[in-house]
This record gives sequence, C-alpha cells and structure tokens, in this order.
Amino acid sequence: MDKPAICGGDPVRDTKIFYGHQYIDEADIQAVVDVLKSDYLTCGPKITELEEKLCRITGAAYAVVCSNGTAALHMACQAAGVKAGDEVITTPITFAASANCALYCGARPVFADVNEETYNIDPEQVKALTSKKTKAVVAVDFTGQSVELAPLLAHCRANNLVLIEDGAHVIGTRYKGKCNGSIADMTTLSFHPVKTVTSGEGGAVLTNSETFYRKLLLYRAHGITRDPEQMAHEPDGSWYYEQTALGMNYRMTDMQAALLISQLDKLPMFSARRKEIVKAYDEAFSGLPQIIVQKEIPESDTTRHLYILRLDREKLRIGRKQFFEALEAENVCCNVHYIPTYYFPYYEKLGYARGLCPKAEKLYEEIISLPLYYAMSNQDVRDVINAVTKIAEYYKR
Ligand SMILES: *Cc1c(COP(=O)(O)O)cnc(C)c1O
Repeated sequence: MDKPAICGGDPVRDTKIFYGHQYIDEADIQAVVDVLKSDYLTCGPKITELEEKLCRITGAAYAVVCSNGTAALHMACQAAGVKAGDEVITTPITFAASANCALYCGARPVFADVNEETYNIDPEQVKALTSKKTKAVVAVDFTGQSVELAPLLAHCRANNLVLIEDGAHVIGTRYKGKCNGSIADMTTLSFHPVKTVTSGEGGAVLTNSETFYRKLLLYRAHGITRDPEQMAHEPDGSWYYEQTALGMNYRMTDMQAALLISQLDKLPMFSARRKEIVKAYDEAFSGLPQIIVQKEIPESDTTRHLYILRLDREKLRIGRKQFFEALEAENVCCNVHYIPTYYFPYYEKLGYARGLCPKAEKLYEEIISLPLYYAMSNQDVRDVINAVTKIAEYYKR
C-alpha cells in the first residue's frame, strides 16, 4: 500500500491544486477593456444587458444586479420587510452572510437544522421553528443542490412568509425542470471568483414580483427615485429627484457587468465540466466505505459549486483534521464549508450556544471541500481521487 506523504511517502503530485479557481478567457478580457474605452463605467448599458441576460437564462421576470452576494441578501431582506423584532429562519451550514442579512435589518436569525443526507435546510425544522415573529426564510442551496422548494414554498405561502433563496452556489441548477431563480419569492446570487461564474465581486437578486423589483431598485441606489409618479412633491425641474426610502449604494460597475455577460456565455460549458468532475468523484468514492457521498434529491438537476467529501469516522482511524492535513501533504489543497454560523464569537455574544443544530454540528466535524472548478484537467481529478483513496485506505479501521 502507498504511504501517504504526511507519513514520508511521495505525494500524488508535485504542484499544488487549489479547491477553486476562476476561468477567464480572452473574450472576458476584451469585454472589460471595451467598457473601459466607453462612456460609462457605472450605471451604463452593460447593467441592463446583464439583467436581461440573467432573466433569459433563469426564466426570472426581473433581475437586479448589485455589488456582491451579501448586498443582494441585505436588499432582499429589506424588500421582504424584515425589521427589528422579526425572526428569519436559515441554516447554520452556510457562509455567515445568510444570517448576517437578518441582523442588518435588526431581526434575529433562527437556525434550523439540516437534512443529514442532503446537508440542505430541513423543511420540517423550518415548520417547527416558525413563530408569530417569523418574517422570512433564507434557504441556502448548499453546494449548488436545490433546497426542497416545494415544501418550503407551501409552508411560506400558508404562513405569509417570504421565501428568499440564497442561491450563491446555485447558478446552472434546475429544480423540477425550472431554473432556480424563477421559483422562490427572491433568489440571491453571488459572482465571487470561487463561484461558478464571476464578475470579480458581484451579486444579483432575481424575482417574479414587480413589487419586490421596485423596492430592490430603490435600495440599490440610496432610496432615490427620478420617477415623478413615485414622488411626494411636484418636481422643481428636470434635475429633481427624491429620496423615499433608506437605501445603500450597492451598484455594480459596467466593467463587472461586461465580465459577467461574457462569463455567462460559458455557463453551459462550466456546468457540464463540473457535472463530469462530480460524477468521477461520486463513482470513485461510492466504492470506499470510509467515505459518505452527498445525497441528491431527484428534483434537483445540480450544477455543483462545491464537492463535499464526508468521512465516516467509525471506519477511519483519523479525524477530519488529520485527513485534511494528509490531503494538503499530497498537494491537494482543500477547504471546509462551513463552520456553523452560530459558533462564531459574534453570534455567541448574541446568545447562541452550541447544541442548537446537532446534525449540522456533526456534519461540520466530518467534511472537507475538494477541488472543483472548470479548468481542472482529467489528471488533476485523478490526482484528487488517488490522494483521497490512498489516505482513506491507509487509515481505514
Ligand atoms: C459566497 C456566498 C455569499 C456571499 O456572497 P459575496 O458575493 O461573497 O458577498 C452568501 N451566501 C453563500 C452561501 C455564499 O457561498
């Protein structure tokens, strides 16, 4: 049996492979350069073009692009009317922004436990935690697999809650044949470089509701309107505008929009490659009893943003930390998604304690995110599989 590099053996490869990386081609570069030579660096035609393209790709009626995914979540909570005294239900297995958006609005995040096989928020837990104070649910499509939208939507409709889908991982995924982004009340996207398509920094809110759409436009730009129909006073002149709400400046630049328009042309290609890599990993790891493969619900046709390696700790002599370090020694650089949000000191100070979501906490102890991105070569994929297999077999109990 091959000795792991951490025990003095040879690593599976000499150069490091990282867990995520953007893919930028000449068309992307030219698109950005063209904007730099144009009249508009912000508030220009690329913004509208991108919003129309996102609607065409996802089937959503409206898209509002913004500076990042966190801004998208903040605006979505504001548009949903989340305010002080309200509660917003979300999952702890996510990036901190999924809960922080409730705090920005003065509301309290309530953490619902995950399904132990899909790792997504459990609709039954959402039901159990719904109270008179609940205003919205922020459901995260963890790894890119769709949350169970049908039961979540039914529950939100019956209880007058707004369903916000945190779709930072979800672009390219379909739920029951429809693109995510065209189903929930609002869906937020992120275009950070580790995500499936990128604008450097960037985000969007997708919605089918004109009411939400109008609010989102206001919140994106200071709460200012130039539409006389929305004004309280007669315009003094053609320069006149009014601030009618407390908004932010969450605008995206035209350089970012042009980059994303160009990236979106490659989404089918990105998605197909990600699916191939996930299939190769799933096939290799389903033959290893030490590894648990993430369950996919039949309703979700998933473009995975993350690949989660889950360890069966009863079948291994080492824990997640040692497994992670052993992979690093093989030059396979991984990550962990995510530390349960309420473990953070900021949340502890707000009164959250460990033990809240036992399934999420157990999951956190067992997971490692493996490299997954478009530009991985077949050799890269084989190296990752070889490294995982070597370590899992060497340390099997
Ligand atoms: C990346 C991410 C965000 C935040 O997006 P930014 O564009 O980085 O602000 C929010 N939620 C999830 C689940 C994410 O992965």
